[in-house]
Amino acid sequence: MRILYVEDEKYLAEAVIHVLKKHKIDVDWVEDGESGLALAMEPHYDVIVLDIMLPKLSGLEILQSIRRRRVKTPVIMLSALSDVDDKIKGLDCGADDYLAKPFKTVELIARLKALTRRPALSDANNIEYQDLSLDTNNHTLNNVELTDKEYNITEMLFKNPDSVVTKQQILAHVWGAETAFEENYVEVYISYLRKKLKSLNTKVEIKTIRNLGYKLTYVQ
Ligand code: CA
Repeated sequence: MRILYVEDEKYLAEAVIHVLKKHKIDVDWVEDGESGLALAMEPHYDVIVLDIMLPKLSGLEILQSIRRRRVKTPVIMLSALSDVDDKIKGLDCGADDYLAKPFKTVELIARLKALTRRPALSDANNIEYQDLSLDTNNHTLNNVELTDKEYNITEMLFKNPDSVVTKQQILAHVWGAETAFEENYVEVYISYLRKKLKSLNTKVEIKTIRNLGYKLTYVQ
């Protein structure tokens, strides 16, 4: 899971990120509203966590802008004001959840997991595709262990089956928005994954879509 976290309180953000990383949640963190809005328009976040009081643009303004532009990424609003008005405004503007500061990071993690669970596709913690089952808790594919990066790529492909996932989307999701990593990193990890798929004897393949990216497909 990769989240965008927009928070101007540096020490709070660092403490939260530390705990999120322990729970294998990748975080892109920015400290002001303008940078937050720019990144929030990107399609590769599973959840956006927005503080309300921010320099340059408020969390509510970011939320309104992205919803106007039809970005549907789930949003959790954070607010230091224990004011119900903020909560109502946030939910009115299209936030999916709201957490009052101070909060426990485990509470945030529980909300993140609730928002990214997809009941239609999954039974409990698994995402199924054809004869494959990806365990989102143990990070295994039909009981074969995946490394963190392999898992993050696989999760993206499983959440977008039979559609093209671009190399840039994978890079941004797995390595972060401001990455200096090259596209051939993606190629290397895709080749690891293909080996694992082969060992599973499945008819599911990761197809290369030339000049675009990859697609999880079932070969009859
Ligand atoms: Ca703030």
